[in-house]
Amino acid sequence: MKKRSVEQFDPVCGDPVEGDAHTVDHLGVQFLFCSEQCKARFQLHPGLFVGCPGEKAPRQSGQEVIKQRCLRLAFPLMARKAGEIENCLQKLLGVKSVNASDDHIDITYDLLLISAEEIEEEIIECGEYLGHSLRDRLERVFIHVEEQSEISSLEVHYKKKVD
Ligand SMILES: [Zn+2]
Repeated sequence: MKKRSVEQFDPVCGDPVEGDAHTVDHLGVQFLFCSEQCKARFQLHPGLFVGCPGEKAPRQSGQEVIKQRCLRLAFPLMARKAGEIENCLQKLLGVKSVNASDDHIDITYDLLLISAEEIEEEIIECGEYLGHSLRDRLERVFIHVEEQSEISSLEVHYKKKVD
């Protein structure tokens, strides 16, 4: 009879995980992930996904931090390219909806799972240029800083017991 291991769940996306292709040791516990993307997200902000005794992490209590943004592009999208970029972004973990048209992309996402900065990187990878007026650039920097501070205020910070 084959020995069955205890079913484990990816703490980031919540999917059951088989095998240990993607693992992280955190506070003496081994966590399994379904993909490199989930693993990387966890390593960046473990306190969003795993709490400590007496304090659940936001993701563990089913919290979502929904953001709606309009990302401006440098040039209007061709119709075919708009569909391509929507497909590209919809595949990302945490992205709820995408609508690309003309020179902007309307996107809704869960900040626990993905940040505006990561979405922008993906847009660039898809071959598009983000708006480069001073206003566009300042707005992006402001959003990155704001999201960073929101994320770190949500993270459960593990306090070492001193005795
Ligand atoms: Zn996952």
